[in-house]
Amino acid sequence: MKVTEHIEKANGKTLFSFEILPPLKGQHIQSIFDNIDPLMEFNPPFIDVTYHREEYVYKEMENGLLQKQLVRKRPGTVGICAAIQNKYEVDAIPHILCGGFTKEDTENFLIDLDFLGINNVMALRGDPVKSEIYFKAEKEGHHYASELVTQIQQLNEGYYLDEALLNTNKTDFCVGVAGYPEKHLEAPSLDSDIHFLKKKIKKGAAYIVTQMFFDNEKYFEFVEKCRASGITAPIIPGLKPIATMKQLNLIPHRFNVDLPEELIKEVIKCTDNNQVSKVGIEWCIAQSKQLKAAGIPVLHYYSMGRSDNIKAIATEVF
Ligand code: FAD
Repeated sequence: MKVTEHIEKANGKTLFSFEILPPLKGQHIQSIFDNIDPLMEFNPPFIDVTYHREEYVYKEMENGLLQKQLVRKRPGTVGICAAIQNKYEVDAIPHILCGGFTKEDTENFLIDLDFLGINNVMALRGDPVKSEIYFKAEKEGHHYASELVTQIQQLNEGYYLDEALLNTNKTDFCVGVAGYPEKHLEAPSLDSDIHFLKKKIKKGAAYIVTQMFFDNEKYFEFVEKCRASGITAPIIPGLKPIATMKQLNLIPHRFNVDLPEELIKEVIKCTDNNQVSKVGIEWCIAQSKQLKAAGIPVLHYYSMGRSDNIKAIATEVF
């Protein structure tokens, strides 16, 4: 079922969903099931699986020189989605990127998803590769997520890259896109970011999932601005409980979000990560309860390879 249909069917009830990362290359898929199992009692209608493109690593050779190698540390997005749908009978949503994909790669990826019975997809541009500052599209690839949404929509209408193909199968993807309550790192302003977010919706995206935020006011203001700009699609809040002291510096830097002063003070008081995790859980429960009370259709949690803290939150909220 499509995400939009799940929301309609819930008839105003707030749904629980979450995102997982594929395991590091070499790990067994059981590590993913161990992450998902404890969360199934909260009836997620869908589970997102992130996509991780290749990155450059430097390996030291015997002669002491460094060799640059292109590796994918977390492959398996499509396989994990198929396994989730098969094992749990819930919808799995693969993330798909512009980065590292030509249009042909994208088309073939989407064909695989269609054949597997996966009909939701989260369309993203992707970040620049680690060794570069600016995002670089493949020669035959997309520069922005809006272009990727267009290609998916074209496939939904039966238009493939090879115009000579006749009697083509029309796919039926429901497309999600990313939104940033505190603006995307590269956007010159929130208004300009929302302008391009609207473009993604105009091109065919059906819903938005937000970047994590720790102050609900930022989310409510963002929704208000989106609505004022004419965006009517559901805006699903993305939530992440702080779990380690290190994240205090890492999260603002990596995701371009602010942490509220009160949360920072509570984390700084902690003497170990167990205490930090408790603070993160309490904060996220308070955020979740307020969002639920406001009638938000879905709360989406970034599990980042852990389910104990998400379970503790869901137990209090759902
Ligand atoms: P876009 O919508 O293309 O926007 C990128 C920037 O360009 C923005 O600043 C926007 O304002 C600007 N822009 C857009 N269109 C134009 C235009 N026509 N002209 C000028 N400027 C324009 N990354 C991964 O690698 N894998 C994942 O699985 C993944 N999942 C994510 C899930 C969520 C919910 C979120 C919020 C992010 C996720 N990301 C993931 C990170 C994401 O790939 C990065 O944030 C990336 O830098 C931007 O992606 P986007 O789809 O928002 O890009």
